[in-house]
Amino acid sequence: AEEMLIRSEKMSIAGQLAAGIAHEIRNPLTSLKGFVQLLQGGVDSKSEYYKIMIDEIDKINSITSELLFISKPMTDDKNDENIYEMLSDVMTLLRTQANLYDIDLILEVDDELIVHCDRSQIKQVFINLIKNAIEEMTDGGKIHVLMKKIDNECLIAIQDEGPGIPRHLIHKLKEPFFTTKKNGTGLGLMISNQIIDNHKGRLEIESENGKGSRFCIYLPYR
Ligand code: ADP
Ligand code: MG
Repeated sequence: AEEMLIRSEKMSIAGQLAAGIAHEIRNPLTSLKGFVQLLQGGVDSKSEYYKIMIDEIDKINSITSELLFISKPMTDDKNDENIYEMLSDVMTLLRTQANLYDIDLILEVDDELIVHCDRSQIKQVFINLIKNAIEEMTDGGKIHVLMKKIDNECLIAIQDEGPGIPRHLIHKLKEPFFTTKKNGTGLGLMISNQIIDNHKGRLEIESENGKGSRFCIYLPYR
């Protein structure tokens, strides 16, 4: 009976997700259809309409690619991996985007920690969190990425100097489709949280409005 209960709970989460996806994709599709109809009627300001249409197509595109990532079976390809190396790789990848906004990406390391994890999944988590930090800091500043061993856990903290998150919104961040961005999908943190769960770790979010945010990933160490 308990298993049934867990299953029906899982179903309803899948159902909720499906409803959300349908909604998120239908909105840009409705808008696309409207603009195609307008263009069919013949109008002057074509280029403006095309721009909006491309934005809507981009939105559908990013939702579907994140969904593809979720629908991939959790491969569970866990090995002993060097977290410092993974963070360095990710930061090299994101440095170009950071430079564009005058952002310093700083890596502070206590130890070179080895953690049993799925390398590509945990890298995806680092990318999602550091990208979010970059996206909040349009006026530049510093993003500190800190890594250290605490008892039998490995802590990776990403601290930004963005606007922070109002207290009443913090619990919403891990929900699918919660986004405050014009072209956001609201799936990054949900996926990250799911991956960290899958590693028996946890993701903690700390923020003071106006003082930036800190995302703490705790992964079991050995
Ligand atoms: P997306 O980036 O597509 O909006 P995410 O799931 O990655 O989706 O993030 C959801 C929301 O959480 C963001 O739209 C933003 O409002 C908030 N958020 C995430 N990271 C930060 C951060 N570092 N500082 C402030 N708000 C953040
Ligand atoms: Mg994001």
